[in-house]
Amino acid sequence: MNSGITNVYVTTSDCSTLVVEAITPFRYTINKTLRNAYEINLGCKLIMAPDTIRIFDGLVNTVTVIEKKDKSFILVNLEYPSSYRVKLEQGVLQKLTIFFDWSFITNILNNKVIIIDPGHGGRDLGYRGYINLLEKNVVIDIANYLKQRLNFYGAHAIMTREKDITMNLTDRIETALLLEADIFIGLHTNWDSDKYVNGAKGTYKGEKGQLLCDNIIEELGKKLRLQNLGIREDANLCVIKENHYVNKIPHVNIEVCTISNPVEEGWLRSPVFKERVAVAIMNGIVRYIVWHARL
Ligand SMILES: [Zn+2]
Repeated sequence: MNSGITNVYVTTSDCSTLVVEAITPFRYTINKTLRNAYEINLGCKLIMAPDTIRIFDGLVNTVTVIEKKDKSFILVNLEYPSSYRVKLEQGVLQKLTIFFDWSFITNILNNKVIIIDPGHGGRDLGYRGYINLLEKNVVIDIANYLKQRLNFYGAHAIMTREKDITMNLTDRIETALLLEADIFIGLHTNWDSDKYVNGAKGTYKGEKGQLLCDNIIEELGKKLRLQNLGIREDANLCVIKENHYVNKIPHVNIEVCTISNPVEEGWLRSPVFKERVAVAIMNGIVRYIVWHARL
């Protein structure tokens, strides 16, 4: 009978949990190799194929599983510093579980007021895909996932509309003003007359908006391999006159992918895809705060 590692995977909730399963007992050691990287040495072979698993859950970026001279190695690349604890379960299946803690990220998000603005709504349908998917419905789903996720990790996220209602931009921005928001994120989809055009893009206002927008579009590329169609400044964002709102908080509109592309329209029907979009957007928000807006 073959013996060795059969399965390696990561799940995410209040921590990132790496699970290593084997059909025989194995010894292990865990070493910190770089600032945010760990190497797990396992004293047995691989049964599963060597692989680099792309996680990008916000903390764990990638997990690489390799075999060298009858031993297996798992390289865990993290985005931020994290401590870990280990649980080993022995049985027919030996299971090693490593919990990476999220306190760095929850500290970053703690009490940040984040306004999520699902574009369009009500009579304003937004763009329509070839198979009749409507932008106004897609963006509210993504907004719900994003709000739940941000609040779960300690932020204070609020949606400008929770229902399918018509709203103007002034009312949406008014919400952000009232709540003294730290970040304002509009959610949209891209549309192009050429149905082969695909990918994500964004608009922003001001220097902070540019940094936030850039980080979010980059994370959509990492997590979902969406093509980066670029970002540009839009002077029409935050058009409340005689108000310094614009200078205070970054305002971005993210066109999460292209609804006129039949493949991406198909993805937008999938709850799993929409949830993954929300993960990528949150990753971009955290990275923006860590690198550019930490107080
Ligand atoms: Zn739109």
